[in-house]
Amino acid sequence: MPALKAVLFDGGNTLLELDYPWLAKLARRLGADGATPEAIGRAGARLMRQRSLRYGRTPLRQEAHEVFEESFSSIAAELGLSPMAAAEFARRAHLEDREHPQGLWRCPAPGALATLAALKARNLHLGVISNADGNAEAHLGLAGFAHYLDLVIDSSQVGVEKPDPTIFRLALAQLGLASHEAVYVGDLLDVDVAGARGAGLMPYLYDPYDVYPDVAEQRVRALRELLDHL
Ligand SMILES: [Mg+2]
Repeated sequence: MPALKAVLFDGGNTLLELDYPWLAKLARRLGADGATPEAIGRAGARLMRQRSLRYGRTPLRQEAHEVFEESFSSIAAELGLSPMAAAEFARRAHLEDREHPQGLWRCPAPGALATLAALKARNLHLGVISNADGNAEAHLGLAGFAHYLDLVIDSSQVGVEKPDPTIFRLALAQLGLASHEAVYVGDLLDVDVAGARGAGLMPYLYDPYDVYPDVAEQRVRALRELLDHL
């Protein structure tokens, strides 16, 4: 690849994950005996693929509560919880997300910090473009990413969201780069990959749970694989 200068990432489900161990413990307490962090992650990834255009976008403030509860109830139902237990799972998860200083998006994805450190050592600019609620930079900072990131663009702060190419162009402008000098890595086909391509950046689909086996895009199952691709 000629003259790569920046690697830009999605935030949620790419650099940061929900606290799956916490959610698995909650699900087991509510009766889903076999719930594992892996099962929660996989159920979440499948749900996001099904509904990626809707959930990839920042829910409007007044819709956020509903979207959160609906998503978490679906995940809980897939784990085998009864409708009543699933609603309780969603309620407690939402409470934790609001009350914990890091929210529930508080775990670096496997290999994320090490991958960023290695890319930084290649003198690449690193950044995040996230459809988020205004807390992306704070949450990434609390999870240990601040040191590596040259920019964080949070859709609610700039008033435009992926897949609109404008948000990718904002990042390029801040870094003083052309689109062919950057790649973008994200987990949603319709939001991250389509958006990046629309702005002229080469996209990589991050698909740790193999929910896009049918897709011909450049796809990595682990973030560390990027070190071989780039
Ligand atoms: Mg994402």
